[in-house]
Amino acid sequence: MLAGMKRLDMRRALAAGAGLALLSACGGADSGSAVGDGIDVQASFYPLQWVAEQVGGDAVAVSMLTPPGAEPHDLELSAQDVGAISQADLVVYLSGFQAAVDDAVLQEADGSAFDAAEHTDVDLTYRPIEDGEQSEEGEEADVHFWLDPIRLADVADALAERLGKVDSENASTFTDNAGTLRAELEGLDAELREGLANCDSSLLVTSHNAFGYLADAYGLTQIGITGLAPEEEPSAASLADIASFVEDNDVRTIYVETLVSPDTAETIASEAGADTALLDPIEGLTEDSDGSDYLEVMRSNLATLRAGQPCR
Ligand SMILES: [Zn+2]
Repeated sequence: MLAGMKRLDMRRALAAGAGLALLSACGGADSGSAVGDGIDVQASFYPLQWVAEQVGGDAVAVSMLTPPGAEPHDLELSAQDVGAISQADLVVYLSGFQAAVDDAVLQEADGSAFDAAEHTDVDLTYRPIEDGEQSEEGEEADVHFWLDPIRLADVADALAERLGKVDSENASTFTDNAGTLRAELEGLDAELREGLANCDSSLLVTSHNAFGYLADAYGLTQIGITGLAPEEEPSAASLADIASFVEDNDVRTIYVETLVSPDTAETIASEAGADTALLDPIEGLTEDSDGSDYLEVMRSNLATLRAGQPCR
């Protein structure tokens, strides 16, 4: 394989610090297509796109079904999107998160889809606040598993195995890439663990119940202001409940997010004498995101939490 490569190509691959990229570059040359082409992967939203890119490297071309800046929960698919799903070598998605994608996968991508929910525990639920306390009823599923880096690493390992079945020549590259990614995610996990070990409050009050897995991993308890879907507006009664909960429990900060209006959270915060701060559920990445990839935004979230809880 290497013999067929031009010296310049080899030097470029080595300069990129990616000896493993040689393999995928060869794969591209063998199939007669340009380097950079590869397995066609459709990822349904940002964290899965990021993982597919990290694990697939140069051997995959990853497209994303949720446009940057769009709210992924209520994604609607165009006919073109559905066509892309049916033609993809692999669709990487999360069942139970985006109904339109679930439907399209069922219709168009039977046998060529990778469901992240099958490869990590997506089992948390959330309980809303009623009468100033967490209710015992009305549980809803929390799908935002990627906010726990270890769960994301589990999905990355499984994705490497699946990509290796689609493109067996690059199987060891995918495994190595997933190993590198796991090391980075475990490093992030250690930073979160240490950074959130000594905080005044363990109550995490958020405008969007996306942080259950993060809370679960690092000893916090999430209190959500709205339902799990960010478009749900709380009633006046539940606003008052939450305001009294915030006041009674000496919560200093209510966390709002990038993609959704923070009005409700600010109303409660001013009523209860708390501040608001931006905590990003990383459902999408835009120019306004506080970081250029998953790892950077997670580290920004850690800094925000350390200031808001506050932690020593
Ligand atoms: Zn969400």
